[in-house]
Amino acid sequence: MNYQWYPGHMTKARRMMQEDIKLIDLVIELVDARVPLSSRNPDIDELGKGKARLVLLNKADLADSRATARWEDYFRKRGCFTAVLDARSRAGMKAVSSAIASACQEKKERDRRRGIINRPVRAMIAGIPNVGKSTFINTFAGKACTKTGNRPGVTKGKQWIRLNREVEMLDTPGILWPKFEDQMVGLKLAVTGAIRDEILQPEELALWLIRYLTAEYPGILAGRYQMKADTLPEGPDGHGGETGGISGEAAEAAAVLAGIAKVRGCVRKGGEPDYEKAAQLLIEDFRSGRLGEITLELPDPEKQI
Ligand code: GDP
Repeated sequence: MNYQWYPGHMTKARRMMQEDIKLIDLVIELVDARVPLSSRNPDIDELGKGKARLVLLNKADLADSRATARWEDYFRKRGCFTAVLDARSRAGMKAVSSAIASACQEKKERDRRRGIINRPVRAMIAGIPNVGKSTFINTFAGKACTKTGNRPGVTKGKQWIRLNREVEMLDTPGILWPKFEDQMVGLKLAVTGAIRDEILQPEELALWLIRYLTAEYPGILAGRYQMKADTLPEGPDGHGGETGGISGEAAEAAAVLAGIAKVRGCVRKGGEPDYEKAAQLLIEDFRSGRLGEITLELPDPEKQI
């Protein structure tokens, strides 16, 4: 179904994760705070069994902070330490350092009881593509630390970055593959820009986003695009209201997209509204944060917590 992730890619990524994970004590998993479940692969729970776990809710600058707090709670209840960050900024790195220290505490105490002292905790960054792994490694580990070369007992060719006296991090992140089987996961990842858009039409993504925002963040679209509900034109399917075979909500979303096209002057040569352009504009506004801080999924209080 997807263009970037053939079964061969996934098998290779999984094999590398399985190899690397043997070397480490702590899994630092990056997720996108706007889609914390869709941007992870639950296989990591099996792969990381018995390891200390830290979930970093990245791109938190783009997410709804109330929702992020609920997600932190969700992951903590599942035995993970958490921290919230914008991987591009050094500002949040203190919180990450202290979360790493907390996550390592148990391991250090276990070592001490066994008489092992001064053995650094080995950590690994893992996450699906585009979640911010390289950005995080650069910001967090960037200049401040030294790289350690191959060492006896450690698989040849592995580079470790010494973060401080107590922690070393594998310099190549573990790549997880998104759970594409779930169509909603694909859709949300496409909206956030984590996977290429060609899987779905921009209109399809935009119409879903409009429906979600209308339900969860009422007023946000009208505010951004200066639209008034009672003056919305007809949508791309020719229905401005509750007529025809499509639901009221779908018709409403279509009318909002038409409204955006009108307000932003997205028109084709013959004067027809350019819905594709309007859809791309909306998606770009979402991705860049111009629509505001928005989270696209919440922990389900009944099913998941
Ligand atoms: P990787 O594939 O997991 O290594 O992801 P990258 O580090 O290449 O990041 C993917 C994109 O997300 C880049 O354009 C980054 O600038 C951007 N990015 C990474 N972290 C953040 C963040 O915390 N906030 C925002 N707004 N963008 C981020």
